[in-house]
Amino acid sequence: MTGEDSQSPYIGEHGKSTKQKHDSRTQTMPFLRLSRRAIAVAVATISLMILSVFAVWHFETPIFDVSPYVWVSSLTTGASLRAYDGETTEAFPLARSTPVGDKYLIGVGKADITGPVVEINFGGYASLPQKGTGLRQRIYARTFIIGDVSKPDNRIAYIILDTQSGDAAVRIGILEGVAALGSDYAMYGASNIAVTGTHQHSGPGAWFNYLLPQITSLGFSQQSYQAIVTGALLSIQRAHESLTEGYLDIGMTNITDGNLSRSLYAYMANPAEERAQYHASTDTTMTLVRLQRASDLKNIGVLSWYPVHGTSMLENNTHVTGDNKGVAAYLFEKKMASDANAAPGFVAGFSQANVGDTTPNVLGAWCDDGSGQMCSYENSTCADGKSESCHGRGPEFFKLDLGVSSCYEMGRRQYAGALDIYNNLSISSIPVVGTSVKSYHFYQNMSFFQFQLPNGSTVQTCPAALGYSFAAGTTDGPGAFDFTQADSGSPNASPLWAVVSNLLRTPTDEQTLCQHPKPILLDVGEMSEPYDWSPNIVDMQALRVGQLIIIISPSEATTMSGRRWRNAVHSEAASTIFKGSVDPVVVLGGPANVYAHYCATPEEYGIQRYEAASTLYGPWELPAYINLTLKNLAYLAPDATGAPPVGPTPPDNRQTSLSFISSVVFDGEPIDRTFGDCTSQPSTSYIVGDVINATFVGANPRNNLRLEGTFAAVEQLDSTGSWVQVRDDNDWSLVYTWERTDTILGHSSVVISWESEISAEAGTYRLRYYGDSKSLLGTITGFSGVSNGFAITT
Ligand SMILES: [Zn+2]
Repeated sequence: MTGEDSQSPYIGEHGKSTKQKHDSRTQTMPFLRLSRRAIAVAVATISLMILSVFAVWHFETPIFDVSPYVWVSSLTTGASLRAYDGETTEAFPLARSTPVGDKYLIGVGKADITGPVVEINFGGYASLPQKGTGLRQRIYARTFIIGDVSKPDNRIAYIILDTQSGDAAVRIGILEGVAALGSDYAMYGASNIAVTGTHQHSGPGAWFNYLLPQITSLGFSQQSYQAIVTGALLSIQRAHESLTEGYLDIGMTNITDGNLSRSLYAYMANPAEERAQYHASTDTTMTLVRLQRASDLKNIGVLSWYPVHGTSMLENNTHVTGDNKGVAAYLFEKKMASDANAAPGFVAGFSQANVGDTTPNVLGAWCDDGSGQMCSYENSTCADGKSESCHGRGPEFFKLDLGVSSCYEMGRRQYAGALDIYNNLSISSIPVVGTSVKSYHFYQNMSFFQFQLPNGSTVQTCPAALGYSFAAGTTDGPGAFDFTQADSGSPNASPLWAVVSNLLRTPTDEQTLCQHPKPILLDVGEMSEPYDWSPNIVDMQALRVGQLIIIISPSEATTMSGRRWRNAVHSEAASTIFKGSVDPVVVLGGPANVYAHYCATPEEYGIQRYEAASTLYGPWELPAYINLTLKNLAYLAPDATGAPPVGPTPPDNRQTSLSFISSVVFDGEPIDRTFGDCTSQPSTSYIVGDVINATFVGANPRNNLRLEGTFAAVEQLDSTGSWVQVRDDNDWSLVYTWERTDTILGHSSVVISWESEISAEAGTYRLRYYGDSKSLLGTITGFSGVSNGFAITT
């Protein structure tokens, strides 16, 4: 990709901005109503959008595999009571077949949040060319509600979205929606609803509250945003309606082949004596909570935490998926559908943890420049001194399938770990005890927030800023520009970017000093035109159920950041809340509630690789998060009353966000064809494992998201002569691809591909396509098409 190639269409797009079609659900572009000064700022915004082809807000970071331990390919189950920090806990395994913990109110719910699967930029990699062309797997909201039986208003609602992160706009939308549900839902609110993202990188974007992550998605899409909010609310309602009394217990296992450090050079900057306490440079423990209802002792769900980036699907993939955690949830829920101990509607939540410096590309990072070399340890560059050809490799990278096979395998490993825990819970588990269900939440402005370190010295956090290594990206998605990581910020690093960054905003001396040693590329925390570029106000939140404490992190904490934060909470909670009665289990979930990029340790910050360059609030961000958490931990005590002050209100940019996203104009049928006609039929017979394709006369799937439904289906002929749907959009093996074939006439085609599984039954099948067309007058009409039948033999 050259600068010229990628800039020119962009200038064209914005050059005709007054005639641009907009998403009909967003308000008329406010751009035209801005003052002259604001327009000048907006022009600068557009300049950045042009250059955003190169500068990625979330290109992920480099690694070099000199991991100090040896990978094993199978799960180590012997460590099932290993604490999160790798130490053996005091908690005792209990042989049990009946619950011995305390009773809670428990409920689970799941709902579809799949937004527009085509023509919208994906959230995560911030790669301008990565626009959706279809769907491999629907994405979901999964909600887990737990309440205090004796004080039923004391609840927590932990939401896992198959999205890049939690977000301020999405959170506001969910809170408004819950409030509108009426008095039955009055006990849910800002304090006890946690909105976490799995950190997948293959779903529709354009739903972010702040400007920076909107840059590559061309602004804000009401449709993309609303799909997430609507689904999240539905999952909350389903969880609420399923509430029943039940028990919780916790299990752990060690999944050593489920992640790898992608920033070991930075990790090694942490003190040797601290690193020596851990067996690996990433956390490899999965912690899982089982929800078991009291009425028949059936399990209604599991909720787990394990840190690994949702970057198995590569940056050039354009099909929507839930990435590796989406696969893990899919496999677990499918398994539970036939498990005698699982209740119907079982929900499996695979939540993200201290993900910051982890990668699913466990074979390490290699130079795709013909050299056969691994990328440099220090800054993940190749022989040319640049990071562009450095790519992390997943376990099945050799298949060159956009990460599909590696994603499935990394998801399978988390699924296998969770299943291993689940199967062993009847033998040994940690029952959750103590009936308290508590939470707190407040907003914290991180701009020049002063606080004391444990050693007594006073330090401060800073307005948000991104350093030079941010633009270099990571080995999960290298930047397309010649920044290198650990760059000193010398003028030679990128004079162009230095100029652009200064045009946009010259950091104040106070900010420069505050962020030191980060060389500031984008002073986003001090840029609020046309609206805020990045959050300065973050959500600080924690939840507690019995001895389980869940830290809700707004940032992607690195491995060591997560450990320090959890250890600090563990120590404080053990002495002040539990007073030795029970050993607290502390987990960290995120990125949640708002996307506040990364959180590196102060030592890692000094190295200024990607994660540190993306640690928005300066070197003391982690100590500040820990300080704020500990200061408010007393709100989780059993006898605690009241709540911390709400704090400053974050900006709500849902109505003011720019949008350059065109809406669907109309769909047209080719002469002598109608929507749904199968224009390319499958063959008459296949053997299992074959890929079966059918092509149809299509229409734009943005006309109707078919939430809770499907675009693609496989139907099987049963013994009575009826066709029965046996695969749908939820199935990893069934792929829906949409292509615009004639823009002027509104023609498009859809290919349904079934990658038939080795386990598929022999039989007669056909492929079906569900679509919705839009007429010139705007009427939307549903239709379906079906292929000829075909045989599959084993
Ligand atoms: Zn990330």
